[in-house]
Amino acid sequence: MRAVVIGGCGFIGSHLVDSLLKDGHSVLIVDNLSTGSLTNIQQHQENNNLEILKIDITIDKEALKDALVDAEFVFHLAALADIVPSVENPEKYFKANVVGTLNVLEAVKAHGKIKKFIYSASSSCYGLPENFPTKETDLISPMYPYALTKKMGEDLVLHWGELYKIPVISLRFFNVFGPRSRTKGTYGAVFGVFLAQKLAGKAFTVVGDGKQSRDFTFVTDVVDAIVMASKSKKENEVYNIGSGNHYSILRLVELLGGEIEFIPKRPGEPDCTFADISKIRKGIGWCPKVDFEKGIEIMLENIDNWASAPVWSSKDIERETKAWFEALKEK
Ligand code: UDP
Repeated sequence: MRAVVIGGCGFIGSHLVDSLLKDGHSVLIVDNLSTGSLTNIQQHQENNNLEILKIDITIDKEALKDALVDAEFVFHLAALADIVPSVENPEKYFKANVVGTLNVLEAVKAHGKIKKFIYSASSSCYGLPENFPTKETDLISPMYPYALTKKMGEDLVLHWGELYKIPVISLRFFNVFGPRSRTKGTYGAVFGVFLAQKLAGKAFTVVGDGKQSRDFTFVTDVVDAIVMASKSKKENEVYNIGSGNHYSILRLVELLGGEIEFIPKRPGEPDCTFADISKIRKGIGWCPKVDFEKGIEIMLENIDNWASAPVWSSKDIERETKAWFEALKEK
């Protein structure tokens, strides 16, 4: 297969590229290298089956169309992540996650030969879920611009799929973790924060009472889901991608080992995320293989990845999350 991975230099994208190349496919990465990095794919620099184009999907529409001309499979994983900067700069998120997705879809539509288009959606579309495990049909209620723009991207994908007969699938990822998860930029996902704190011998900044839980899903399982969805006969479907379980932050701390510093609970954050994955189990036959404990073991084996990551203190976090608190405190 000839695959194009948009956002292939990012965390999940680069693991997908590993898997596609391992299976002997020809891969073109389209990335603007803003949050992704060539380091994530440096292991493939001698591989003739890999090509990389630096393209900004929000601007270079013609270059994007040219890049997709021979594509059989398109995986769209390019997006701006993180909650706090999306509250501070929603327009930037709208451009990257909505306009960017629109441009990708228009490029796919233009040549009309795609066998499958996979979109990386986010579990944040469920907001503060009421039902656990949460089903694809449960209430959609994004709580901040990141969540909203990823959902808008999904709506575009499904609409373009129906109207222009593009075989699309949207996968709603729940808290993906694994080696290469992003460490730079703003205060981000809990694993990056905690592993950097552990390396620096600092206490873990646990939010609230730490009893809140997340459906932490290991990145190679997410990649398997993406690949299986691309090969399946299903079209115009949405699937949750989760681990089949959920784990508290205190359990994470216990497994990582270290002291705790409690910091205030953040508004707009769910107490639990937990995906119902029965739809993809039945429909596509995917199920996760790496459990939480094993995933953490792999993270700790790769802890040097976080050696140059910023070490956040409770004061830094308080400063970073101020805009978010301000925006949501009335809710
Ligand atoms: N979290 C924490 N300390 C931190 C960062 C995050 O206890 O320094 C918690 C946070 O409250 C949430 C979980 O870790 O319950 C996952 O947070 P993350 O930002 O990774 O993902 P999201 O909130 O988007 O699920």
